[in-house]
Amino acid sequence: MSRASRAQMLEMSAARHDHLCPRQVLGVRIGLTGVTALGLDTPRRDKRLLVILETDGCFADGIEAATGCTVGHRTLRIEDYGKIAATFVDTETALAIRVHPQLNVRDKTAEYARGEARRYFAQLLSYQCMPDADLLAVQPVRLQVPVQQLVSRAGVRETCGNCGEEIINERGVVLGGHLLCRSCAFGGYYGSLDAPSTLGSGSSTDPGTRATGGHSLNLA
Ligand SMILES: [Zn+2]
Ligand SMILES: [Zn+2]
Repeated sequence: MSRASRAQMLEMSAARHDHLCPRQVLGVRIGLTGVTALGLDTPRRDKRLLVILETDGCFADGIEAATGCTVGHRTLRIEDYGKIAATFVDTETALAIRVHPQLNVRDKTAEYARGEARRYFAQLLSYQCMPDADLLAVQPVRLQVPVQQLVSRAGVRETCGNCGEEIINERGVVLGGHLLCRSCAFGGYYGSLDAPSTLGSGSSTDPGTRATGGHSLNLA
């Protein structure tokens, strides 16, 4: 990947914000490194590459600019762990590589942005010129969910046995012999104002302290 095309990716990302920030730069750098580590070309127009991000925000725009993957094409997913990190999956080979900034990367910014005392601008400058090996950690990983299940078939429609809403993309789960949406199965990120508990009517569980399943968001 030439410096010029990396610069174009940074421009593409910045055009969405009216600014370029350190997290967009990390998105572009991590995106390029992840795709290159898989031996694939970028930006991609097909669905071979699946990118799983661990946060949203500016970082995601950098990743999109570098990889061509988008939520709309079902080639970009967010597992929101609140971390600047992404895993790059070659859906043909099932190889998966996770890339994140080196843990001590902020300690190195002064070295690559000499004379810039302001922390934000030192990060912005240094993240653009720091060598990959200083900036990033690249880690082959094992996916806990099979690739086919991660990608899923886009045309499939099912109906939740509890709420009756349609579930697309094979995202239903079977619990106690019933096909359910994740919200009904595990407790979702929302609850009805009238019915605090979405499953098991008559439950005396206090909505304020209700334990939620592993797939729900903790908004407390
Ligand atoms: Zn930003
Ligand atoms: Zn449901």
